Amino acid sequence: MNNRDNPLRLSVGYFYNKPIGYSREILVEAEHLELDDLLVDDLQSRIIGSRTSEGLLLQVEGTAEVETDCGRCLKDFFLSVDFGFKELYQFPSRTREDTDLILPADGYIDLRTLYREYLILALPIKRLCKPDCKGLCVVCGTNLNNATCEHQTNPPEHDDIEGEETV
Ligand SMILES: [Zn+2]
Ligand SMILES: [Zn+2]
Repeated sequence: MNNRDNPLRLSVGYFYNKPIGYSREILVEAEHLELDDLLVDDLQSRIIGSRTSEGLLLQVEGTAEVETDCGRCLKDFFLSVDFGFKELYQFPSRTREDTDLILPADGYIDLRTLYREYLILALPIKRLCKPDCKGLCVVCGTNLNNATCEHQTNPPEHDDIEGEETV
């Protein structure tokens, strides 16, 4: 049922003629996905699709490793996130807003845009590659997780850098 190249392209045409209230569970997994610029590993998600009077309601929950950058050392790393969302795909015969999701006649919907959006929303504001990330030297930019630089021999809290050129 799922497209091999895009596991987020789902065949949902069989819902169209089901009675209101019919629901079905769909598992969507992927080892690696590229959602535009967003890299995602180990996606595991469960979708409950329900036929409503207006269309198809999707209730999604899952986990994934999402590539992001560390707030301290700026290194890219994969962060494990839990995500979930609920969206309604409507039948195309009704008055609607531009932002509404519409069920296509061919019966295939592509959830890449939604997954990308909600995975980004699931990222915490403060993101660290590890809890004790040492960050970058404010003077020379050395990644202090990998190396030390000459500026680390003094206590890091001094404010008078301009008077202390040592080289
Ligand atoms: Zn870091
Ligand atoms: Zn330095």
